[in-house]
Amino acid sequence: MSKKEEDVMELARRRGFIWAAFEIYGGASGFFDYGPLGTALKKKIETLWREFYTLGEGFYEIETTTLGIRPIFEASGHLECFMDKMVECKSCRGLFRADHVGERCPDCGGELSGPQDFNLMFKTRIGAVSDDKARSEAFLRPETAQGMFVNFPRLLRFHRNKLPFGIIQVGRAYRNEISPRQGIIRLREFTLAEAEVFVLPHEKSKHPRFHEVESVTMRLKPNYMDEELETTVKDAVERKIITHEYLGYHMARVQQFLEKIGIPLAKLRFRQHERDEMAHYAEDCWDAEFLSERFGWVEIVGVADRGDYDLRAHSLKAKADMSIPVTASKSEKMEEESRSLSVFPHVIEPSYGIDRIIYALLESSFHKEEVRGEVRRVLRLKTHVAPVEVAVLPLLNREPLVNKAREVFQMLRRHRIFAEFDASGSIGRRYRRQDEIGTPFCITIDYETLENDTVTIRDRDSMKQVRVSISELPAKLSCVCESIFA
Ligand SMILES: [Zn+2]
Repeated sequence: MSKKEEDVMELARRRGFIWAAFEIYGGASGFFDYGPLGTALKKKIETLWREFYTLGEGFYEIETTTLGIRPIFEASGHLECFMDKMVECKSCRGLFRADHVGERCPDCGGELSGPQDFNLMFKTRIGAVSDDKARSEAFLRPETAQGMFVNFPRLLRFHRNKLPFGIIQVGRAYRNEISPRQGIIRLREFTLAEAEVFVLPHEKSKHPRFHEVESVTMRLKPNYMDEELETTVKDAVERKIITHEYLGYHMARVQQFLEKIGIPLAKLRFRQHERDEMAHYAEDCWDAEFLSERFGWVEIVGVADRGDYDLRAHSLKAKADMSIPVTASKSEKMEEESRSLSVFPHVIEPSYGIDRIIYALLESSFHKEEVRGEVRRVLRLKTHVAPVEVAVLPLLNREPLVNKAREVFQMLRRHRIFAEFDASGSIGRRYRRQDEIGTPFCITIDYETLENDTVTIRDRDSMKQVRVSISELPAKLSCVCESIFA
């Protein structure tokens, strides 16, 4: 483990962000729980994400089941294709992913068996055991996307049969990893935030809002090049590096969202999947990757053109036609064929791995520095994702300072500012505690407060302090509630 990851995960456990699930029973790899501050951070990111796509793009959110019946995954291809190769150690019976080990067992050096296919879905049964697999076999979803595809007919009607439209979903997904050893980066249960954008195939080349993002500069690693290049989305689409405006538009939006929540652009790139690496459903796929000090380049968002794979497959399997009639005037190509046609909509999908994004945020915002001979650990989280927005601290744990501080604390909460009250230990120690959890501002109540109703606000990053009157506080601090669009 690199020192940085150790430091970050130690802080995450100690200060209530994230820790191993079932800890008192020794834990189980691939499962983590979020503590009070981790949950607050996660909810803020999810809320910003929802706003970004609902308010920003006009998409609606739905919530579908996390358990899916067998025919869904027969149609989606997950039963057949969602596989890893597994090897078993003949001595210690350890199981490993074939592509993660050499010829010998990494634990005991024993001989390994030949690779076997292993399906990554968790399987269960619905109701009492029955021989009818189609009815009784169920799987925990490996992605939230299928819930949006199988509901397409109703969603289309909801949108008055008009394309394009987008649907989002945030929720748990599951992947029965053979032997996960990368902490929170490779989880068996995780949170996805996914958008599925349904668009007619001949309309993918023009996105109506492309002009808004065309000058966004991105770092790209196409699969036919050895080097990365940095260019605008407009240039990348014109040169056919990115296949069409729809994909380019959503890649640029992904970058804008990640930047807004605090992923440093210097540690972000988009890597195009190799042909043989793409998921079974993908026509084209770019991963937004974060450069981790511990794990190297890590996928945090996938942006895929899934083509018509899923709607076509479910139409066949469910015998429910999900194609759309297209009038001849809509497409020159179809005019040539001079008959009424129907086509399957295509799907553009940005799929965000929320847990990995949280790790990326913690790793990149964590700083350890020496201040006046003491170690200062600080999380430089953006103000709008910080779990605690303001700390209210009486200079000393003494009346009447404590009483006054409690008043200010309650007043801020009434203004919907999430404040924490802390009176224990020296003021220096309390500042350091707040720095560690990323609290952007500390308000100190001192003896001057009692005279003229003013307090100091200390800024986490510059450690500078300004004096303001209590009545001004809610307005001054409103920047902590800054919207993602600000
Ligand atoms: Zn072994």
